[in-house]
Amino acid sequence: MIPKTAQLLQIPSSQIQETMEEKPQKRDKNRQKQLTGTLRNADELLQQLALPAYLLAPAQAASTHFSMRVPDAWLARIKTGDLDDPLLRQILPTAEELKSPDDFSTDPVGDQEARVVPGLLHKYQGRVLLMTTGACAIHCRYCFRRHYPYADDNFLTQLPAILDYIRADSSIHEIILSGGDPLSLSNGRLASLFQKIQTISHIKRLRIHTRTPVALPGRIDEGLLKLLQTIKLQTVIVIHCNHPNELDERVLETLSDMRKCGLTLLNQSVLLKGVNDNVDTLVHLSERLFSAGVLAYYLHQLDRVKGAQHFEVEDAKAIALYEVLRQRLPGYLLPKLVREQRGAGAKTPL
Ligand code: SF4
Repeated sequence: MIPKTAQLLQIPSSQIQETMEEKPQKRDKNRQKQLTGTLRNADELLQQLALPAYLLAPAQAASTHFSMRVPDAWLARIKTGDLDDPLLRQILPTAEELKSPDDFSTDPVGDQEARVVPGLLHKYQGRVLLMTTGACAIHCRYCFRRHYPYADDNFLTQLPAILDYIRADSSIHEIILSGGDPLSLSNGRLASLFQKIQTISHIKRLRIHTRTPVALPGRIDEGLLKLLQTIKLQTVIVIHCNHPNELDERVLETLSDMRKCGLTLLNQSVLLKGVNDNVDTLVHLSERLFSAGVLAYYLHQLDRVKGAQHFEVEDAKAIALYEVLRQRLPGYLLPKLVREQRGAGAKTPL
């Protein structure tokens, strides 16, 4: 049975299950503290940022489809009273999300077709993706998995079947932890998962896709850093950052700490209308990421998910912008401009 408090806070069932299974004394106190510093209420968000009251009704309506979730650490980087703030645009639910254009889908990249076991997606040769949790530190309004049926996966129950599938296919060399955000799991849960993955002899690399170091840097505590250093596999952390304003001093320090642990850090961004669809912003983003030891990896065209159509940048504009970006940045700071296409064996360059 799901506790009432959790229902009220709209905590995803996967996270509740994880928390309930852990012994209280083993919980990471720092993480609990950080997670409680999260806004889930549009009324409070508008008040704290001195935003106009007319935004409230649409924000509440849009939140019923995909709940609002904004860590305090993120809120602190938004400029008060500025409706165009690029960090605000990524988290504020709006009336645009309630539209439902026919050419936008609830599963834009074909996750369900690639779901070989509940909680396991096998799209690309040699790599599989584990849907470790539905929980995230932040809810990005353009999220391509905003409609993903995480509850159906029941990752923890399915884990033995997932590992059996990976063991049986020796062509799989890389495991990608995704979701949701894998770093929403407790350190104990992650340690157990890493340990199990390492017993599979043909796995060479572990990749972790996470927005947590940027959205909730306090979660990257000493315990987690130590844990990441114990992984025997080559480990790549792919963070998700769209705008240089996301990289305040605390985030840069956190990323540097992760680098000092010997981890390879890459970044993927989504090209978003009104957030980062201009050359100066993207140049600044790549340079600032590099100052913290993070290389720009992908710049994604928006996945056409229902509720996010207002973030889409037309291909012609994206390509024109990229051509200028190519001239402004050295090759090693230039992310690849790509689109993920349903059924394709790799990301498609634009
Ligand atoms: S952190 Fe990633 S998975 Fe979570 S809401 Fe944002 S884009 Fe989606």
